[in-house]
Amino acid sequence: MTGQPGPQAAADGRVSAEARLVHAGRRRSRGEAVVQPPALTTILASVGEPGAADYGRAGNPTWAALEDALGAVEDATAVVFSSGQAASMALMLALTTGRDKLLLPSDGYYNARTLAERLRPHGAAPVFVDQSDLPGIERELASGSAVLWAESPTNPLLRVADLTRLGRLAATAGAPLVVDNTVATGLLQRPLDMGAVASLCSLTKSASGHSDVIAGAVLTREASLADDLRAWRTLGGGILGPMEAWLALRGLTTLPLRIERQSATAQAVAEHLAAHPKVAAVHYPGVHAGTLALARAQMPRGFGPLLSFEVAGSATAADAVIAAGRLIVPATSFGGVDSSWERRGRWAGETAPPSLIRLSAGIEPAADLIADIDQALECVPPTD
Ligand code: PLP
Repeated sequence: MTGQPGPQAAADGRVSAEARLVHAGRRRSRGEAVVQPPALTTILASVGEPGAADYGRAGNPTWAALEDALGAVEDATAVVFSSGQAASMALMLALTTGRDKLLLPSDGYYNARTLAERLRPHGAAPVFVDQSDLPGIERELASGSAVLWAESPTNPLLRVADLTRLGRLAATAGAPLVVDNTVATGLLQRPLDMGAVASLCSLTKSASGHSDVIAGAVLTREASLADDLRAWRTLGGGILGPMEAWLALRGLTTLPLRIERQSATAQAVAEHLAAHPKVAAVHYPGVHAGTLALARAQMPRGFGPLLSFEVAGSATAADAVIAAGRLIVPATSFGGVDSSWERRGRWAGETAPPSLIRLSAGIEPAADLIADIDQALECVPPTD
């Protein structure tokens, strides 16, 4: 390799996605820093006709590096935004223009539904659907032009949707399929291979992985959609700061190591909780017999760090469990190196069962987490 082996390796299809994401966006000309610092600049040298990225609201070399790395994972073009929600908003605006409705999962990330409601005056009516009700979705798709917005696994119930079948239904109806891939990330699940036109990821979670940056991305293989998203980003201004892009890029390089460990830990914790007398229900693809085969087919490398469980008791009992944790951080969000949990129903607009605790497995050994959960659950009075 000569000149710039970093980008060349990233573009080389014979190299694994993991190797490509480590090397993507890194320039290695002689004498150049192998780890490029964040490009803290609002202006870029420019002469004559304006180019696509002459000003920091339209482009930045550190975003470009992050987009290269994300694109390497899903064999697609990535467009990064200031948050997962900014990415969702640009995607909703780009795809719903001229369409009647936006079908969203009734049990997915609640702020996607809230955002869709806010955007209703701009055209598309939100319709909340059960992702497992394929005939119902088919009927909705047949009655008016739509965008189908899926999420799998869902946050916070970790339900697995059949993305290939949803992709087929959408294609038959001429509707674009979007998949919110935040919980799995592109490393565990590749929605674009299953019929999605866009794969959305909140990089705030596992992708960056250290609970220190808010960012989002859309991955697509359609050049016109990528152009449209960039236009919404430049004009709407939902851009990622270079420092945040740099943190996300650094976090991303260790995603394969983290998510492998966290998936194994989440599986062990879910199995432990499933046999616990103070737990009424556990939600994790790896312990849900009804969709296990589908989950394995769609996510052959693991199911990610997020699980949830219902305490056998009230919301107050669930709050007491969280307060009793010694190791697990009481906080929202997920995918960080440190394990965290929250009672999900505390958010207005969230439809999760009242005593449901959403738990994100960090990189601590599973035995430490299980010991902490067990001692915290001791505060729940026994049920007869
Ligand atoms: N999608 C899912 C599934 C999420 O859980 C979240 C945030 O929790 C988002 C999108 C929005 O991401 P962000 O918080 O980066 O805006």
